[in-house]
Amino acid sequence: MIKQFVRTSILSCASIAVLAGCGITESAHQPANHNRAQLQGVPKNIIMVVADGMGPAYTTAYRNYVDDPTTPNIEPVVFDDILVGNASTYPAQVSGYVTDSAAAATALASGVKSYNGAIGVDVNKQPVNSVMYYAKSKSMRTGLAVTSQIVHATPASYIAHNESRKNYNEIADDFFDVRVNGEFVADVMLGGGTSYFEREDRDILAQFIDAGYEYADSYNRLASVPAGSNVLGLFAPVALPAVLDDKRKNRLKYLTKNAIKHLENDNGFFLLVEASQVDWAGHANDIASAMAEMHDLAITMEYLRDYVEANPDTLVVLTADHSTGGLTIGANGDYRWSPEHLKSLSASVMTIALEMANEENPGEFVAAKLGLSLTEQELATLNSISNQDDKTRLSAVKTFLDTKTNTGWTTGGHTGVDVEVFAFGAGYQSFMGQIDNTDIAKKIFSFIDKKQPAKIAFPSKKVSTNIELTSDEDDDELCDFKEDWRCN
Ligand SMILES: [Zn+2]
Repeated sequence: MIKQFVRTSILSCASIAVLAGCGITESAHQPANHNRAQLQGVPKNIIMVVADGMGPAYTTAYRNYVDDPTTPNIEPVVFDDILVGNASTYPAQVSGYVTDSAAAATALASGVKSYNGAIGVDVNKQPVNSVMYYAKSKSMRTGLAVTSQIVHATPASYIAHNESRKNYNEIADDFFDVRVNGEFVADVMLGGGTSYFEREDRDILAQFIDAGYEYADSYNRLASVPAGSNVLGLFAPVALPAVLDDKRKNRLKYLTKNAIKHLENDNGFFLLVEASQVDWAGHANDIASAMAEMHDLAITMEYLRDYVEANPDTLVVLTADHSTGGLTIGANGDYRWSPEHLKSLSASVMTIALEMANEENPGEFVAAKLGLSLTEQELATLNSISNQDDKTRLSAVKTFLDTKTNTGWTTGGHTGVDVEVFAFGAGYQSFMGQIDNTDIAKKIFSFIDKKQPAKIAFPSKKVSTNIELTSDEDDDELCDFKEDWRCN
C-alpha cells in the first residue's frame, strides 16, 4: 500500500515539475507565476504546519525512504524545495534544554517560552495571547486540522490556557468557553477527540451544534459540509488511527483541504495543521510508522505547494516542535540503512503485533503484513514470540524492523536538537536563517498586525495559580512513555 502511495507522490512531483519545477530548477519559494511584490508582501492567509517530533533525521530518512534506488542520485523531496532555516526549541529555563510539545507549542503559538506541560500560559501560569486569537481579533477566519485529538498539546496551545497539558477535559471546555470579542477562537476544528467533547458532565459537542457549528463524525460526512461553514469534525474517540491503519492514507491532506474550503474568505485565514503522530512513532521507536506519518505530511506539503501556486498571497510555514526518539540513520557501527523494508506494510506494527497472537501461522502473517519475504529462520523467530504478551510482541516486531533497516534510537522521549524551518509563499523570507521557535510566532503576529487594526479582548477565563510547577520527575510519574507513549 505504502509503495503505491510513494509512487503516486513521486509521479505527482514529476508532473508538477513540468509546470513549476520540482526541486532542481525552481523551488517552491518562487513558483513560476508569483510576482516578487506578492512574495515579499504581507500574507493574506497564514498556514502554520507543525510536524510533531520531526527532527532533522526524520527529513533525511524520509528522502532515503522514497528514493528510487535504480537511479544514481537521491531525488529531492518536497521538504528540500522549501527549507529556509533552523530553529532552537529549548523551553523556559525552569525546564532545562529539552522541550515537550506543550512548551514548544506555546512558544510557536504565542512567542513566549514556558515550562514543559504549559498550555497557553507563561511560567507564572498566566494566559498568553496566541496568533490564532490575534487572527480572530482581526476578523480572519481560523481553524485547525490535526491527526491527534484536537485537545492535544499542539492544537490546545493555540486555543486553551491550562497549567497542565494533561487536563484534557478542561482544555476541551476552553475550546467552547474562551472567546475573542465574543467569538469562538476557532471556526474549523478537525481531528480526533469525541471522548473529551461528549462527556457525562458536559456535552460540548451539543453546545457547538447549538451554536451553529456543523458536526462531522466521518471523513465522508466532512466532504458534504457546505463551503464556508463553521465545522467541528471529530473522527475518533481520542486520536485518529495511525496512518498505516487508517482507511484514508492521505488523511492529513484531506483534513487540510477541507479546512481551507471552510476558511477561505476576503479577510484571509489562519490555519494550524499538525502531523501529530510523527512524534508518537518516535516515542514508540517505530520506524515504519515514522516514515508513513512523514509521507502523510509530505503529501500534505505537496498539496499546500500547489495551493500557494494558485493563491500566492498565502504563507505556509512548517517546523517541528522538537525531535523525538534520537533516531539515527544507521546504527551499531554498521554503515547501512535499508528503508526498502518499510515500503510495503499494510498495517502498523502495533496492529500486526496485536493480531499475530490470533493467527495459526504468526510468522507468515507478520511477513504478509510487512510485505516482506522472510527466511525460514526469521519466520521461526516470529513464531517463537507469538505467545508472549502484547508488549513483548510489539517490541519484538519493532526490533525486527530496526535490525532489517539498521535503524537506531537513543531514547523513548524527546531530544534537544534544533529543528528545521520550511516556508514558502508571501513573506517566507522572514523565516530564513537560524531563529528561535518564539520568533515564528513573533513574525506571524507582525504579519497579522499589518492587517486592519482591531482590539483584542483578552480571554476572561482565569487560570489557577495555586498549584506548584510540576517537575520533570513528576511528569514522568504521571505519563510514562514506556507504558503510554501517546501521552506526550
Ligand atoms: Zn512527544
